[in-house]
Amino acid sequence: MLAPHFFSSRPLSFPGPERDDDYGVIAEALDVPARAVVRVRQVHGRTVRVLSNDADLVPEPIQDADAIVSARDDCAVVVRIADCVPILVADRRGRAVAAIHAGWRGMAAGVVHAAIEALGDEGVAAGDLIAAIGPSIGPCCYQVDDRVRDLFLAATPDAAAWFDEDGPGHWRLDLWRAAKDSLVDAGVSESSVYLAGFCTADHPDLFFSHRRDGAAAGRMVAAIRRPRRPSP
Ligand SMILES: [Zn+2]
Repeated sequence: MLAPHFFSSRPLSFPGPERDDDYGVIAEALDVPARAVVRVRQVHGRTVRVLSNDADLVPEPIQDADAIVSARDDCAVVVRIADCVPILVADRRGRAVAAIHAGWRGMAAGVVHAAIEALGDEGVAAGDLIAAIGPSIGPCCYQVDDRVRDLFLAATPDAAAWFDEDGPGHWRLDLWRAAKDSLVDAGVSESSVYLAGFCTADHPDLFFSHRRDGAAAGRMVAAIRRPRRPSP
């Protein structure tokens, strides 16, 4: 196994980043101590929290960030989502992993590139990475207005390909394609990017959706741990 990981679904919910008891299930699933489930305060930016091998392990969300890179095999790293795109990344040689939270703001800010660069700083080349894009709002359901498109294009000129016209002043935004293109642009091989293709808004039985259920929607997690026996 490249790296133990999962994307959660209903009925599990993770209402906030703070409460340790909510995260016990992740600790159990990924075989780490309950106090070693590391998260961040997600702010839709491009900051990456990096857990190097020799760093002190502080699981609490002490930092505003939207991606976590870990070279440690004694902790799990986690992002929370309810429509935004969760991306889990692993090194084929087992040296590090990453969890990324990317809504349109984070995608536009370049959080995917920032995470892949941080993995590079840990000695992992983008060509050695494999990535999974988890359940999130699909192009079928994600309508945005001109304002979002204009802001996105101002940050990322390549973003035009991710929008399809959907009536006057409105667009369908394909964050799945944005995630894949961003990973490939950052150096990940296209054949190493896997897309779940599950739309959170279309599956109320399986997933929470902020757009469908409002701000009180539950939250899912994407979690991953570095493997304990790296491949040679
Ligand atoms: Zn949909």
